[in-house]
Amino acid sequence: MEQFLKQLPQLANDKKAENKKYFAKLKKKPPKNLDYIMQELHDDEFEKTDCLTCANCCKTTGPLFTNADIERIAKHLKVKPQQFIDQYLQIDEENDYVLKEIPCTFLDADNYCLIYDVRPKACREYPHTNRKKFHQITNLTLKNTAICPAAYNIVEEMKKRLPK
Ligand code: SF4
Ligand code: SF4
Repeated sequence: MEQFLKQLPQLANDKKAENKKYFAKLKKKPPKNLDYIMQELHDDEFEKTDCLTCANCCKTTGPLFTNADIERIAKHLKVKPQQFIDQYLQIDEENDYVLKEIPCTFLDADNYCLIYDVRPKACREYPHTNRKKFHQITNLTLKNTAICPAAYNIVEEMKKRLPK
């Protein structure tokens, strides 16, 4: 995994133009069973990929925190939401709450999430490859292929399964 993670930004960059073209065609005419196929590709990939050997998302990019996330996590940590915000979060250019520090403060040395049961919705859903109406988030996916080995593999499989 370590070797793959090192190569991933370059691999994703090499495929960027091809993937952009592919997604543009996909968006124009998304297949009717796209949600179903994405779920299958996602499940197959995560049977092979163990996030505990990776954690690249937690190490290199943080989630955004919704108000519901902040309230749930603050309650779990037994602090007031404002205290949680002051200690861990900042506002980004899109006006969203994001982590002050990357790698994420809640990632331990063994790649476990210390707040796993109450983690932000964005963490639970990452890399969003089984999202309904997947064709609406292709720009985000393109970015994620450089961060997430699973997202990279899923897009490669997707092109084989749904050629354009
Ligand atoms: S979701 Fe992707 S980047 Fe995050 S730990 Fe799993 S494989 Fe790695
Ligand atoms: S909250 Fe947990 S899952 Fe989310 S980025 Fe931090 S360590 Fe990773």
